[in-house]
Amino acid sequence: MLGVSRGTWRNWAGTVTATPARVHLPRSVDDVVAAVRAARGSHLRPRGSGHSFTPLAATDAHAIDLRHWAGVDTLDTTTGRVRVRAGTTLRALNTALDAHGLAMANLGDIDAQTISGAVATGTHGTGARLGGVATQVVALDLVLADGSVVHCSAGDELFEAARIGLGAFGVVTGLTLQCVPAFTLRAVERPEPLDDVLTGLDALLTGDDDGADHVEFYWFPYGSQALVKRNTRVDPADAPPPLHPVRRFLEYDVVENAAFGALCRVARALPRTAVPLGRVAGSVLSAREYGDRSHRVFTTRRRVRFVESEWAFPRDRLAGVLDDLRALVPRLEHPVLFPVEVRVAAADDVWLSTAYGRDTAYVAIHQYVGAPREEYFTGFAEIAAAAGGRPHWGKVHPLDAAALRERYPRFDDVRRVRRDVDPGGLFTNPHLDRVLGPVAP
Ligand SMILES: Cc1cc2nc3c(=O)[nH]c(=O)nc-3n(C[C@H](O)[C@H](O)[C@H](O)COP(=O)(O)OP(=O)(O)OC[C@H]3O[C@@H](n4cnc5c(N)ncnc54)[C@H](O)[C@@H]3O)c2cc1C
Repeated sequence: MLGVSRGTWRNWAGTVTATPARVHLPRSVDDVVAAVRAARGSHLRPRGSGHSFTPLAATDAHAIDLRHWAGVDTLDTTTGRVRVRAGTTLRALNTALDAHGLAMANLGDIDAQTISGAVATGTHGTGARLGGVATQVVALDLVLADGSVVHCSAGDELFEAARIGLGAFGVVTGLTLQCVPAFTLRAVERPEPLDDVLTGLDALLTGDDDGADHVEFYWFPYGSQALVKRNTRVDPADAPPPLHPVRRFLEYDVVENAAFGALCRVARALPRTAVPLGRVAGSVLSAREYGDRSHRVFTTRRRVRFVESEWAFPRDRLAGVLDDLRALVPRLEHPVLFPVEVRVAAADDVWLSTAYGRDTAYVAIHQYVGAPREEYFTGFAEIAAAAGGRPHWGKVHPLDAAALRERYPRFDDVRRVRRDVDPGGLFTNPHLDRVLGPVAP
């Protein structure tokens, strides 16, 4: 096994740091088993690319990082079944799938995460008829606390609990995905008056108004415009051309990253400029239409660092939540420098999924790193909790196990399975003790 080292680890946003006593970098399943055995009597936390905003992966005991256990093991183009190693990044996975004419049915908006990290926290994109990344997983291979190597799939309680499992059930070493034939999207992005968006909210997000498969919108809290993104699956022959590389560079790298980052820095240093600058940011959004392979449309690079909190609601609660959020923002002492993002997903049956059992709308709020966020995040958490919201497991929220138990019908089953497979709490840390409760009752 390579590298059993110390060193400070920090998450993408820089808001969580930890110095594990040992970091295991396995190159095989046997190495994972050895790491589990070495951590006996202590704690072991699996970690991915560190893109969670919550301290899920943090530990001062043993950490295990599967970056060297990456790549596609098996790929069947007839069935679309693909077995992938846990440390594979979504970027590498998308490239490998595309090369074989396959794709993930839906994705979130970046591709830097590992597949195991993305699945473990319920990472999702948008699409009223589609689920998040975990709904595309049909089997898992795990190393449990006793060192045993297990395979589980639909119908196994371990699979239902561990799919969105927060790294609390064992170290996932492999995931079998149900992929779909590669597809092309026509992307239409344009600013629209926020009032119009809110008037036709449900039809817009479900695509019932124009047949789009994946709809989301961003809204700069001080602006009157929303940026609406509609992605529709089309025959490649009917797709508009991809964005020209120069335009892509100018719009994504210069405007959305460099210029927006500069604007955030100014607004953070001079809070009085934040409201007018926020209006500017909202008003410079320009319309664009292009076509491309799905993963190149779904994902972009995010270089401006932010902190995020995202909540999932029954879709019919969305309008009320947005009204309350719009009323909250002007009352805040500190200005909001980042847009709000609204997405949707279909109901699913993954025990710890934020969309478990209900068609879901997601509202994500963000704040620039280093800018005050406490009042904003707390105020929105109160709105969200009152509307039956379930927080994204990887994004900032204040709920504990007692509050989460009320929101997840299978929460007690999750805890029972966790006790069965990890009675000594090898895979826990203080954050997991908070959100799932201690292993021993
Ligand atoms: C810029 C940015 C954009 C984002 N966009 C989206 C989005 O569009 N949609 C969305 O839903 N979320 C989004 N997120 C959140 C992100 O997808 C999740 O937090 C995801 O879990 C991060 O994956 P990771 O590989 O970084 O895992 P980490 O954050 O390192 O770990 C996450 C969890 O996975 C567990 N884990 C990792 N590897 C294993 C393993 N091998 N076995 C068992 N458990 C494991 C860890 O223990 C931990 O509990 C975004 C985050 C950022 C920073």
